[in-house]
Amino acid sequence: MSPRSVRGLARRGLGLLAAGLLTAGSISAVAEEPGRDRFDTVVIDPGHGGDDHGAAGGDGLREKDLVLDVSQRLASKLEALGMHVLLTRTEDVFVPLEERTSIANDARAKLFVSIHANASGLRGVRGIETFFASAEATDESARALAEQENRAFAGQGLPAAAADPLVAILGDLLANEHLHASQEFARMAQQRLVPDANGHSRGVKQAPFVVLMGVQMPAALVEIGFLTNAEDETALRSEAERERLADALASAVQSFRERYDARRGLAPAVDRTGTRGENEDR
Ligand SMILES: [Zn+2]
Repeated sequence: MSPRSVRGLARRGLGLLAAGLLTAGSISAVAEEPGRDRFDTVVIDPGHGGDDHGAAGGDGLREKDLVLDVSQRLASKLEALGMHVLLTRTEDVFVPLEERTSIANDARAKLFVSIHANASGLRGVRGIETFFASAEATDESARALAEQENRAFAGQGLPAAAADPLVAILGDLLANEHLHASQEFARMAQQRLVPDANGHSRGVKQAPFVVLMGVQMPAALVEIGFLTNAEDETALRSEAERERLADALASAVQSFRERYDARRGLAPAVDRTGTRGENEDR
């Protein structure tokens, strides 16, 4: 089957799905809702939680606690910029994969940001890296990392829908549709997280993270440092570094939002302080 006919099949499938999921009334309500395409909702996904501790530092810092704190700081900053923010967890609990992706999909979020911290068998390995989803990993370490992060969900199984071939095709098409935007956001995030050429940037990479492949919107996963590196762990313990990381990610989301709205011919959103976006020159 040619790519075009697959796409056609998927389009028809989308229509059938939409018809099955929405009543005629709700379709017209969605179509007429003003500003429905404006960038509004962001879902932040603090990795792990509950019995799943994630990575652990030599000095005892746990990934699940660190990423929840950074996620909550980021959420406050985005809310102050006038965005609607949902967290996939707000406390130390295990949240299954399908619940994390459902929260984002049900909210029709415009961006999904998963926050994790890294681990390596090599104590000298350190730095920040940002991922967007693809079936193929950038390199062996990216593949191993995705496998490790995906393992956190293995006990829960994959979403039942993933077993349906049509849904799988649709998922691929939807993911490809957002591939460019996901890459764009990942680059913005990485540039702001490590703005200094002398900083410890491991770059923007791709890997098959299940949590990124399950969402129907631009999505990235940020590894904010290595808990297995003493210097990274010390920095990540500090309030200053956590604030810096949250500020950098908030700035990336704000820039992504401005481009998102500008592409749709929408004027920049006015935030709560009444100021306009930084790229606005009127
Ligand atoms: Zn993790």
